[in-house]
Amino acid sequence: MAWHNILGYLGIALIAIAYVPRLYHLVSKKCGAHLTQRPHALFLVASVMLFFPALFEKSGVFITLTIFLAFATATLVYYGKRYGNSRCDEHKD
Ligand SMILES: [Zn+2]
Repeated sequence: MAWHNILGYLGIALIAIAYVPRLYHLVSKKCGAHLTQRPHALFLVASVMLFFPALFEKSGVFITLTIFLAFATATLVYYGKRYGNSRCDEHKD
């Protein structure tokens, strides 16, 4: 695998590390504190749109990235809508 692809996959791993704590808190604690829906909805649409050029360019890194971002943002939008107004004990008040 070429060095630039390794760098790309490492970048995707860093993005996943950035997303996981937020997703975990939202889903496991059913807490929508500090969550803004509209940017994530736009991010979801953009991820799906970016998937197609990545697919036609046959870029494994960008296909993986856009699929990950689409699922991560879809999860944030879905659970954000569900738990947007509920707060865990840590974020009450
Ligand atoms: Zn919370």
